[in-house]
Amino acid sequence: MKRIGVLTSGGDSPGMNAAIRAVVRKAIYHDVEVYGIYYGYAGLISGDIQKLEIGSVGDIIHRGGTMLYTARCKEFQTEEGQKKAIEQLNKFGIEGLVVIGGDGSFRGAEKLTEHGFPTIGVPGTIDNDIPGTDFTIGFDTALNTVIDAIDKIRDTATSHERTYVVEVMGRDAGDLALWAGLADGAESILIPEEDYQMEDIVKRLQRGSNRGKKHSIILVAEGVGSGIDIGRKIQEATDFETRVTVLGHIQRGGSPTGVDRVLASRLGAKAVELLLEGKAGKTVGIQSNKLVYHDIADALSQKHEIDSEMYKLSQELSI
Ligand code: ADP
Repeated sequence: MKRIGVLTSGGDSPGMNAAIRAVVRKAIYHDVEVYGIYYGYAGLISGDIQKLEIGSVGDIIHRGGTMLYTARCKEFQTEEGQKKAIEQLNKFGIEGLVVIGGDGSFRGAEKLTEHGFPTIGVPGTIDNDIPGTDFTIGFDTALNTVIDAIDKIRDTATSHERTYVVEVMGRDAGDLALWAGLADGAESILIPEEDYQMEDIVKRLQRGSNRGKKHSIILVAEGVGSGIDIGRKIQEATDFETRVTVLGHIQRGGSPTGVDRVLASRLGAKAVELLLEGKAGKTVGIQSNKLVYHDIADALSQKHEIDSEMYKLSQELSI
């Protein structure tokens, strides 16, 4: 293989740039040319493709977002769109592709592989919802962004003796809420993977108040529903002054943490290694701090699960 392509697709996450850099540098190290495809699968269809050199990826390792930009592309979900994409890849002489993105992007990568085009997926999403890897690129940075925000909310919550409901991202996965809740000692953590009872939330709040607690934080994963609705229900069920903060897209930005930069560098380089070994239709990941890879189809057929012991612990520690 003498020429590969790299693109970022779907929702961005901090550390994608570090992954792009690793793909480019690892390939060039092995005398392989790299072409950057801009705006994900949309750019693949339209031919928005440029050669990347060592210097093209200089000074990006510490930047959030993605220098290749990203997009959602309906056309690529059609057979016709996928064929157009492969025509472009052939036109540019690209023989293998690294797709950095979430599970939607991986479905696209799987399609390319089915059409006979070797593609490797690198998991980049703040949601940490991709089976086959303990962590996805961007999760640690988003976690630290949430922790930082909650620390600040906690200050004002204490001053005013308020209850705060904080809604965090994660799509259908509760990881971000669970980890942030554990890291911040939240009273209750509402995640889509576990049922919750309003009475239990209220009981915890009352118990805290009775022992003189000045503030309470309740974390709601977006997959559970609206934090605003939960806040309203708490206000109705108690006489605690309740405020709601929806953290939103600040969770997707910012300079990647050291953990994310290292993870992105390792996973990006591993993806190139697999392509050079002639592998296709794989997703790279990290499990017990070892680099691993799985068939994309297998990974996508599994259900993402949270660590139920961690959830139990969060309940035990917030008595
Ligand atoms: P993410 O990768 O963050 O999960 P999306 O779910 O929006 O983001 O997917 C990103 C892009 O991947 C979509 O806009 C589309 O172009 C492509 N994609 C998603 N699902 C499929 C599919 N089943 N077949 C082909 N391409 C897909």
